Amino acid sequence: MATTNECPNCGGHYDSTDMECPYCGTPIERQVHPEFTPNFSRPVQNYQPTAPYAPVGSKNRIVAGILGIILGALGIQWFYLGKTGLGILCIFFCWTYIPGLVGLVLGIMWLTQDDATFAAKYG
Ligand SMILES: [Zn+2]
Repeated sequence: MATTNECPNCGGHYDSTDMECPYCGTPIERQVHPEFTPNFSRPVQNYQPTAPYAPVGSKNRIVAGILGIILGALGIQWFYLGKTGLGILCIFFCWTYIPGLVGLVLGIMWLTQDDATFAAKYG
């Protein structure tokens, strides 16, 4: 089965195997889909023009998020982020389940937000 395409010049339908339009003779340009030509040098999509010089944090957002979700009750993510005081506070209050809940919510938040936002706060 052959797919038909429209000639950009006359609008006539031509076969995908044709090299030129059967109606006006315009040479057919084979359209290459953009997905087939991956450009690895393309800049990051979430780049924020409002903060072009936002510092890239030394802390890994993903690691902190996962630590918060799994070990949030013990405040491990705070020790990782260098906020030792908050971490100790979590250990003291781990029996209340509040640090675990906060760790879970913040962990999900960190995993979903972008690096610049995270770095601005915890980097
Ligand atoms: Zn044509």
